[in-house]
Amino acid sequence: MSFLNSIGRSMQRNPRGPKRSPTPTGQSTDNVSIPPQPSSPSSPSPNKPLYLCSPFVEAALVKGNFKTIVVLPKYVDIMEWVAVNVYDFYTNLNEFYGVITEHCTTQSCPTMAAGPQLNYTWINQDRKNVHLPAPTYIDYVMTWVQNLLDDEAVFPTKAGHDFPQSFPATVKHVYRQLLRVFAHIYHAHYNQILHLRSEPHFNSLFAHFLAFGREYELLDIKEVKGAPQALVGAGMLWEKWKELGILDG
Ligand SMILES: [Zn+2]
Repeated sequence: MSFLNSIGRSMQRNPRGPKRSPTPTGQSTDNVSIPPQPSSPSSPSPNKPLYLCSPFVEAALVKGNFKTIVVLPKYVDIMEWVAVNVYDFYTNLNEFYGVITEHCTTQSCPTMAAGPQLNYTWINQDRKNVHLPAPTYIDYVMTWVQNLLDDEAVFPTKAGHDFPQSFPATVKHVYRQLLRVFAHIYHAHYNQILHLRSEPHFNSLFAHFLAFGREYELLDIKEVKGAPQALVGAGMLWEKWKELGILDG
């Protein structure tokens, strides 16, 4: 069953967590900016990011293929299933970011970098692409998502409240932005994840996020991998984990 083509009815969910800071200005974005290329041709970096190296790349809490844990359980409404999982991905990612947030500053992360040649930009209220420091960008994303989760008209929690027709599109948008937060953490803060010995947890969360996104058509592969001239660093985990049998093709 395609999630994007189905609209179901809602059921009771757990109450949601506390609200974040007030809504920032601006809209979220799908744009990506590519910094100027170096004048000399760049050769493949001899320094492979640690998250692509053994044993870190294989570190996971869940053994085997993630497909099994994303399948829609019997008798569960697909909208409800997607809503609960998106809520969990957001909550867990927010916790990880909370732990490393002191290392993600406007000085250390002046742009929303997710690869050597990739900086995400934000679309502001004037529909202009702007570079934001990563902590600002991430705060905008997380606040925006929290506000959506708290909005009964978007993520209904009460019996008898239906999911809106726009729910699939909203969730895709949320997913794309959460992917960027994952991508920034892998690119810029993997050392801190390792320092906390949290790589099995973080890999498992990301692999689960990717598997779920593919199962319910919430993620475009090109968003995961990036463009050839602006690769998403963490996007390389996709192929790696397929090789290892952690993800499906
Ligand atoms: Zn950062």
